[in-house]
Amino acid sequence: MSPITTLLKESVVLGDGGYLIELERRGYVDSGSGREKVGTGKGSGQFTPEVAIEHPDALRELHREFLGAGSQVLQALTFFGTREKLNRAGYGAQTESINAAAVKLAKEVAGDKALVAGSVSRTQLLEREGLGSTDRARDHLAEQIRFLKDAGVDFLILETFFHLAEMKVALQCAAAAGLSAVATMSFRPLITACTDGHTPAECARVMADLGAIAVGANCEQEPPRMLPLLREMRAAANVPIAAQPAAFRTTVDCHCFTRQSAFPDDLETIQVSRREFVEFGRSASSEGISYVGGCCGCNAAYNSTAVSLNAA
Ligand SMILES: [Zn+2]
Repeated sequence: MSPITTLLKESVVLGDGGYLIELERRGYVDSGSGREKVGTGKGSGQFTPEVAIEHPDALRELHREFLGAGSQVLQALTFFGTREKLNRAGYGAQTESINAAAVKLAKEVAGDKALVAGSVSRTQLLEREGLGSTDRARDHLAEQIRFLKDAGVDFLILETFFHLAEMKVALQCAAAAGLSAVATMSFRPLITACTDGHTPAECARVMADLGAIAVGANCEQEPPRMLPLLREMRAAANVPIAAQPAAFRTTVDCHCFTRQSAFPDDLETIQVSRREFVEFGRSASSEGISYVGGCCGCNAAYNSTAVSLNAA
């Protein structure tokens, strides 16, 4: 049994938070915002993880903060780390070195105190070119997962997929590589269906059938907005539920923060308080949620206040 599967059986697992938004705020990631000359200064606007090779100390420090706040899993900052996505930011040639460096940093900080997950997200090919690009997406995802395996991750977190079709491909690639995978979809503009039209329940069933060791949702919604869709998933699938909500407030008409007018330059005006995450952490067990972390907007302060969840 893999270490993450063992942890999930023991108690609620506390994850970490969102790396890219926090490092964008600190000036190390290009967001395409009005501040796009920060970070690499190249203004790619791609939210890609080249910070792992260009400013490793900044990434190392954020890992340390999450570990210090009680995170049992550190996610290597390999989000948007496929060659397809890195090409768009001008870093395609460094795809392997960025993935390897990010995992190495996370492992150094984690030591034997936390597990290290490789983060894998959508290539964005399906959003741009439609389902006909699925085979190319498969090649890119398989390549990144191979790099993550070679770098020694403990397991994968497949996250922020908008199309279930692409998530299925990612899960097949994870299985082919022999890596356990937590699989979380992101729902927008509403929590009722993903981009290719599947309900949360359908997504949960399909992801569990394809071998995900936990299924759930991440990003886009604050905890109270995400809870109903997690309950749907819990009822539909007989595997642990994982949740990494965002810390930004959404609206009745639009359940995702990335389509709020505040994205990306006015996010502070819709920031959700740490208290809401403490409540979310506290209710995790009773809601049947086995893996609790945060996504965009959650820095280590959000974790340290939630760390009492296993003690509660
Ligand atoms: Zn996020």
